[in-house]
Amino acid sequence: MKIGFIGLGNMGAPMAANLVAAGHTVTGFDTAAPCPDGVSSAASAADAAANADVVITMLPNGAILRSVAADIHPTMRAGAVHLDCSTVDVDSARTVAEAARAAGLDAVDAPVSGGIGGAAGGTLTFMAGGSTAAFEACVPLFDIMGQKAVHCGDAGAGQAAKICNNMILAITMIGTCEAFALADKLGLDRSKMFDVVSTSSGYSWTMNAYCPAPGVGPQSPADNDYKPGFAADLMLKDLRLSQQAAEGADADTPLGAAATELYRSFVEDEDGAGRDFSAMLPRFSARSRG
Ligand code: NAD
Repeated sequence: MKIGFIGLGNMGAPMAANLVAAGHTVTGFDTAAPCPDGVSSAASAADAAANADVVITMLPNGAILRSVAADIHPTMRAGAVHLDCSTVDVDSARTVAEAARAAGLDAVDAPVSGGIGGAAGGTLTFMAGGSTAAFEACVPLFDIMGQKAVHCGDAGAGQAAKICNNMILAITMIGTCEAFALADKLGLDRSKMFDVVSTSSGYSWTMNAYCPAPGVGPQSPADNDYKPGFAADLMLKDLRLSQQAAEGADADTPLGAAATELYRSFVEDEDGAGRDFSAMLPRFSARSRG
């Protein structure tokens, strides 16, 4: 396939490199980052998109996505697919999909989980929204860049799935960290706490697979001085998107709102920026009730 790739940052560059390694022709554009080896560099986003069968965008936010979409849709060939893998607000995903349809194109929103390691290893999970035909056109690319792709529904459904998943992830991480901090103050050994909870009704992915306590459970960012992993800053971005969506949909999300405020103060007022999102544990441990 001929692929245009716009946004070659931490995630986009390794994803584009994997497409090249699989034999696709990739033309890339980024306002700051260089093209990885094997990706030919275009002078603009519109140039990267012209003549492509699929144009992939991997950008920081919805405002940038909307502006890039306005640049590339007029140069894309009729019937081509705009595959957006960025994490953005549901409204932007739907607006961009509508603009693509109006321009005679197809669109898929397919945010990812798996982080930089998943992008490099080709093991991302894609959560996709869009028509069945457009989703199926992207499946060969999902197979190269990832290990799983779920077609979640129409335009915006991929973004909806992503922010709901990450809202649960933040809430369970906070719960797991709170409980460890309480257990510490009650004199309970952390490994005993893990042995009990990981096999009891308090178990969760955050306890069992990504334990926030160093030296306990499987290897996790806690064992590497809380280097990300999944940075608290990125979790804050996703939580804000969940709250923006909840406001738009009039959904009552009190724990999502509380998690957003906790990660906001951790990242903006404390020392959480650039640390893994599981570093909530030392944060709670260092605090008292008042
Ligand atoms: P990044 O900041 O490393 O990359 C974004 C790239 O977009 C940058 O290189 C930037 O120069 C480029 N860019 C900005 N405006 C542009 C424009 N107008 N035209 C062309 N290029 C432009 O971010 P990232 O970590 O690669 O994340 C990309 C997306 O993936 C984000 O939406 C993020 O939320 C999501 N995501 C990231 C991770 C992660 O672990 N990093 C995990 C899952 C999802």
